[in-house]
Amino acid sequence: MNEYSIEISNISKNYGDICALDNVSMNTSKGEIVALLGPNGAGKSTLMNILSTFLSPTCGSVLVNGFNADGDDILIKKDIGFLPEGGPLYGDMSVEMFLKYIIELKLDIDDIKEDKKEINKRYKEELKRVMDLARIEHVSKQKIETLSKGYNRRVGFAMSLIGNPSILLLDEPTDGLDPNQKEHFKDLIKKMKKDKTIVISTHLLEEAESIASRIIVMNKGKIVISGKKEEILSQTKTKSLEEAFKTLTNQKG
Ligand code: ADP
Ligand code: MG
Repeated sequence: MNEYSIEISNISKNYGDICALDNVSMNTSKGEIVALLGPNGAGKSTLMNILSTFLSPTCGSVLVNGFNADGDDILIKKDIGFLPEGGPLYGDMSVEMFLKYIIELKLDIDDIKEDKKEINKRYKEELKRVMDLARIEHVSKQKIETLSKGYNRRVGFAMSLIGNPSILLLDEPTDGLDPNQKEHFKDLIKKMKKDKTIVISTHLLEEAESIASRIIVMNKGKIVISGKKEEILSQTKTKSLEEAFKTLTNQKG
């Protein structure tokens, strides 16, 4: 047995001739906030989709909470909250209807499955809890397709919190949020990290720097460096994350 919440070894993912991930290995521990940082096309979303067991790798192994994604993916999914890149679908549903629907699918009610009243109470409490955390109560009756991009992401974030999973995978979570909303989101994530593993993908240096306890830089399907900011600066002999990023991803400044 090991202590890692996520452990992936030698993962590759090909789409026809395109190699989206090339022999990637990484692991995470509880209490960590890991930022996957990289330019567009680096492979961040592909990696997130594989970690969530939504996609299978072409080769390599994925272990989450000790379960193997190749076989035990249902057990893995139960304890993962995933905010995919595109945000919630079901544009026709109101925010509340959508979240209720996911709660019904995801919430564990085995202990009270005969008691309809108790089940409804638990569903309601969970709905209120996730809407409060994502601050979306005032748009709860609105159709998802009528929301701004920022609110759309917040609904997706609320969805990822349903059932209080121990692993949160958030793909570009602050895309479309205004600066105040970004601040609120960062505070919330930091408060949640104690008993969770949180992996956030972003192309924003500032976000990786201010939220993450560890930064993994990806480029062209590979992990090019992983460590705390100070470690990355010292290994790349640079003075800022921006400079390190440019060096590591061959982007001329
Ligand atoms: P990022 O999230 O870092 O921007 P992605 O994981 O979305 O990167 O994409 C990595 C590479 O894989 C890109 O070259 C992208 O065009 C390609 N890719 C991603 N998804 C598919 C797909 N379904 N079919 C073909 N190519 C894909
Ligand atoms: Mg992406």
